[in-house]
Amino acid sequence: MDRVTDRLIGDYDDGVRGPLFFCFGAMHGNEPAGVRAVELVLKMLEVEHIKNPNFRYRGKFVGLIGNLKAYQQGQRFLNKDLNRQFIKEHIEKIKTVEPIDLDPEDAELLDILDIINQEIQAYKPEQIIFLDLHTTSSDGGIFTICQKDKRTIDVAMGLHAPIVLGIIEGLVGTTLHYFTTDNFGIDTMSLTFESGQHQESLAINRAIAAIICAMREIKSVNPEDVENYHEEILINYSKNLPKLTTLVEHYPIEDGEKFVMDSGYKNFQKIEANQKIASNEQGPLYTKADGLILMPLYQEKGEDGYFIVKEIEY
Ligand SMILES: [Zn+2]
Repeated sequence: MDRVTDRLIGDYDDGVRGPLFFCFGAMHGNEPAGVRAVELVLKMLEVEHIKNPNFRYRGKFVGLIGNLKAYQQGQRFLNKDLNRQFIKEHIEKIKTVEPIDLDPEDAELLDILDIINQEIQAYKPEQIIFLDLHTTSSDGGIFTICQKDKRTIDVAMGLHAPIVLGIIEGLVGTTLHYFTTDNFGIDTMSLTFESGQHQESLAINRAIAAIICAMREIKSVNPEDVENYHEEILINYSKNLPKLTTLVEHYPIEDGEKFVMDSGYKNFQKIEANQKIASNEQGPLYTKADGLILMPLYQEKGEDGYFIVKEIEY
């Protein structure tokens, strides 16, 4: 099996220097929308060439599947959440493990980093951007998570979805934690885009729009290049939502805890403090903070019960 071509959705390079753009789909194997979106964007770039002979993409675009084995099985993950394993010390440790003894997600992790490093060595970029595409188990979860620096927030603003700051501080080992300037020694920006519910077809359109908007923001494509009628969907969706928010509460699920979210919660729904929101084996669970709910857990596998955010000034 050629593992590189399996993980590689495709790449695009017109020979004009620019940022190296890594776009991930299915970092959670049960989230295929990002993979479809990357495939379609690659086709759109090809079409642009035919329609517009002067079109040149600046930089290189690389589309990758995150948790390949889980994706092939339609599972969120096989043994543990890959998007919690991007930890420097953990990576150093597993590099010393015999490949046959590696946990499946750790094998995925090392393979992903291998491919990224090969691409970096081959392209020698001055700037790297990562866009990690996700979907959620509940409806209406369209938002961007990113690092807090102004430049990244400016790019995130261009994706038209509400931005949620503060989430990564409450978690460890996500792509946003690891894909940094410090770790690569090259100017790096990292964003995660949640495009909607796992099975919703619009989640693909929104992810396409997010990729193309990100390409514009980093000036890999001109604003007039690459038709992006999908963008309207995002603009309309986020019309009445806050542009910039920060995390005020997070419910992590403990090992073995039987967390059950109360039914009917939608992303960005208003929540009061002390509201009964879920239960576990010990009884009802109540919110602590007022705000807007994000990612209420409606699937079996998952380590986070819910998040609550509130609007902040840009
Ligand atoms: Zn995900």
